[in-house]
Amino acid sequence: MAEPGSIAERVKQQADIVRLVGDYVRLKKSGQNFLGLCPFHSEKTPSFAVHPVKQIYHCFGCGTGGDIFKFVMEMERVDFPEALRLVAEKAGVRLPEQRPRTPEEAKATQLRTALMELNKVAAQFFVEQLQQTREGKFVRDYLHDRGLTDEIIQTFGLGYAPGTGDALLRRLRERGAKQEILEASGLVNKDPSTSLGTGERGFYDRFRRRVIFPIANESGRIVAFGGRALGDDQPKYLNSPETPVYSKSRVLYNLHRGREALRRLDYAILVEGYLDCIAVFAGGLANVVASCGTSLTELQVRLLARSTKNVVVSFDPDTAGRAATERSLNLLLEQGFQVRVLSLPAGYDPDSFVRDKGGEAYREELKKSLPYLDYLVERARAEHDFRSQEGKIAALNYLLPYLARVPNKIRRAEWATELAARLQIEEALLREELRRAATERRGEMKLRPEHKQALEASAVKPAERRLLQILLENEEIRADVLKELEDDAAHRGASLEETFNQVLALARAGEPLTVERLAETIGEGERRRLFEMAFESGPAVAGSLEEARSCLAAMRRRKLEGELRQLQSDIQEAERAKQGDKLRELLARKQSLHKALGELS
Ligand SMILES: [Zn+2]
Repeated sequence: MAEPGSIAERVKQQADIVRLVGDYVRLKKSGQNFLGLCPFHSEKTPSFAVHPVKQIYHCFGCGTGGDIFKFVMEMERVDFPEALRLVAEKAGVRLPEQRPRTPEEAKATQLRTALMELNKVAAQFFVEQLQQTREGKFVRDYLHDRGLTDEIIQTFGLGYAPGTGDALLRRLRERGAKQEILEASGLVNKDPSTSLGTGERGFYDRFRRRVIFPIANESGRIVAFGGRALGDDQPKYLNSPETPVYSKSRVLYNLHRGREALRRLDYAILVEGYLDCIAVFAGGLANVVASCGTSLTELQVRLLARSTKNVVVSFDPDTAGRAATERSLNLLLEQGFQVRVLSLPAGYDPDSFVRDKGGEAYREELKKSLPYLDYLVERARAEHDFRSQEGKIAALNYLLPYLARVPNKIRRAEWATELAARLQIEEALLREELRRAATERRGEMKLRPEHKQALEASAVKPAERRLLQILLENEEIRADVLKELEDDAAHRGASLEETFNQVLALARAGEPLTVERLAETIGEGERRRLFEMAFESGPAVAGSLEEARSCLAAMRRRKLEGELRQLQSDIQEAERAKQGDKLRELLARKQSLHKALGELS
């Protein structure tokens, strides 16, 4: 991101990452680094490190890491130009006037800004309709009837879209909204039954005769609307379509309002609908968010993970067994959340429960929420008879796939122990089954033994690691080493293959080789190892060309051995299939591989 000689690079050099991160995280010196509690995941012992010399940060817990810009982008949830501006400001560097990078980007930014402005006008219009019109009075009575106070109506910015077909459209045009922006906003629809469909005519309001829930993004700007029908109109809920500022898979309702409470209380209450969310909030629990209609997406889960990794799922009891709910729960587990499930008495959803019994009663229910495992066991118990052998096996088959999804090994083992006790089966047996379920889930059961061997050998080898370190630390020999690496592609199939590819790509482009440059394009796993390496304490040894060459040789050997294993299995297959010609060719290759290996040692 920070090109050499660029403004970004200059800002970075003048900004002190320790001081800037220190504005957000309490850092303590520890050896050559600084340590603190990670702001991106919840933890009690520090695993968040800042390297003052390399000017990078890395969390050994959740794996996030990068340079100061990345940190500010994640922390303030802003894009790169904005992060640059913030860091420059704090570092006292004056930026030249920002020119948008390309005309397309400038246009897209303009469109997004215009859409958010339009949404603001629309939100205000809906509020006016609710508060100041006769039609609105009737709707307010209805909302009061549903237990929503004026204060809550105001807090959530609730509004009303009137029944006339184009009241909003007229208002927006009065305010000078261009046709192009109107069409992109999702606030108006084209009337399919009219031939006036082009130009300014033939459009009407998307939301009519509906209670309006403004939907804000995580920084509180309105990006979309949800509309609930009054009476029996269909559909009951109508949302804004996807627009340049709104994607339903990346927004959690009430996240911006609830975030402070989410961080403070360190857990989220996850509900389904707008009204559930508002009712729980009104009941005194601000740390509530809603997925709103969709089953939870991975993006939503990651969004939530920035505030907390503990969640109480409070869905309708009737929907608890539905596939969509299961998907949501599985997603949370896979992302390492601690999940509890709140089961309300039959017939209640969070909205009706709080309305009927009050916030205090809901809190009591919250205390009774079960850890996910217990909840699952209860469900299994309802279906199967634990006293019989068949019942146990059926219950086990039901439970194992869930257990296999828990990403953390230690937690998974704890669950297994617990489950063995509940089902009264031998723990060793359960663990064996669990291992099988876990590998089946990853699709590794199909692996042939020789592939499995290769897989097991794929943990980062010291040679790879050391070579990368030398490349990063010793600029003088870098060019020579890279040439040799490129010539025999010793890194092919290595566990840091992607990283080495990126090292070569940067060198070819004549760009500087830094940890954060590398980290930009490689995958999660390698990125993590790269940062871990960068933070290794001890004297930084630059290494020699000889040492680099011996690392290369070790990698080359590994590559050849891998090829040999593959060849061996191809040979067996050719033998079985009695393919004479192919077999001869393979054997010849085997011989030359052996020769090459011999020359290496
Ligand atoms: Zn972390």
